Amino acid sequence: MDCNIDPKSVVINVIRQKLLDWYDQNQRDLPWRRERDPYRIWLSEVMLQQTRVSTVIPYYERFLKVFPTLSSLAEADEQKVLKLWEGLGYYARARNLFEAVKEVQKTYGGEVPSDPADFKKLRGVGEYSSAAVLSIAYQKPLAAVDGNVVRVICRLFMIEDDPTKSITYKQINTTARKLLDLRRPGDFNQAMMELGAIVCLPRSPQCFKCILTKECLAYQKGKAEELPISKKTRPIPTIEYAAAIIIKERHCLLHQRDRSGMLGGLWELPAIEKRNRKKIELEQCFSSLLRNPVKLKKRTSLLNHTFSHQRWKVYVYPTESSNPVPDNKNNWCWANAEDISALPFPKIYHPILPDIISRLQTHLN
Ligand code: SF4
Repeated sequence: MDCNIDPKSVVINVIRQKLLDWYDQNQRDLPWRRERDPYRIWLSEVMLQQTRVSTVIPYYERFLKVFPTLSSLAEADEQKVLKLWEGLGYYARARNLFEAVKEVQKTYGGEVPSDPADFKKLRGVGEYSSAAVLSIAYQKPLAAVDGNVVRVICRLFMIEDDPTKSITYKQINTTARKLLDLRRPGDFNQAMMELGAIVCLPRSPQCFKCILTKECLAYQKGKAEELPISKKTRPIPTIEYAAAIIIKERHCLLHQRDRSGMLGGLWELPAIEKRNRKKIELEQCFSSLLRNPVKLKKRTSLLNHTFSHQRWKVYVYPTESSNPVPDNKNNWCWANAEDISALPFPKIYHPILPDIISRLQTHLN
């Protein structure tokens, strides 16, 4: 690959101009593109990480109805923030954004800092989000390199090395910086991402619609679909859990997940890893977790969810337990039907929440 691209070279200038012209005429009308408020642009970039545009739009709009300004979010209750994020996944994003926004309120008087060195000090802000937010909100000349941009650059310049290797990734970054239009860096970054999102698609690039076929080396060599080279993906492991519905006096016992871990801060039923244990062994595990005899009734549901790195199966059992006393009381609560509607749960539990609420309303265990 030629990584000594001259930023003034004819081909670079042509790509830049064609992309911007295409973007001006073909960009999708997305709610955050109508915004100039750095907080709103930042929120959209955080929500869009690893998530499809069509999934993000309703979350973005709902979130801004409740927290229209950075100050309103800075003063919020974290559980309310997580509830609005419920179902969007990657909850560390929400917790980091919340912490970062509080820091902006305290240290920068509520103004999102425009200096990349300051912005990158905030929780959860990395190289990509800093470049994306600051180029769009403040026209800072920073190239934003996400998965879409990596793919477009690998194809345009026929980079045939694995982009997850650091040396290849550096080459891609250097190329992105050379391509960047310094007069309209925010639009240019969005144009690259937009091309990757709607034309230069991962499995079947729509080259017949693309304005860059003349400049694209992978297209010229008939290799567009083969790039970028990807590492072989490892199979995703499945983890099985047993979860218990424990009800006492119209309240259901819930556990809050460790804030620093996966799905941190969200609520779930008391659960243990199943590990091929028989029912009687599961009962012993629950009894020792809850320091009280627990009897499992007939299983009512089997829940499934696939995350990016693992698959969960959760076997749900109603129970009999007279007086469970979990160890660390801070991470547990007895929730009534109203609490269950208000608390944030991982998506995998959503299908059984109506059943739990109806059990609470009808006294069923
Ligand atoms: S010509 Fe095809 S492979 Fe090349 S940038 Fe356009 S869509 Fe992507």
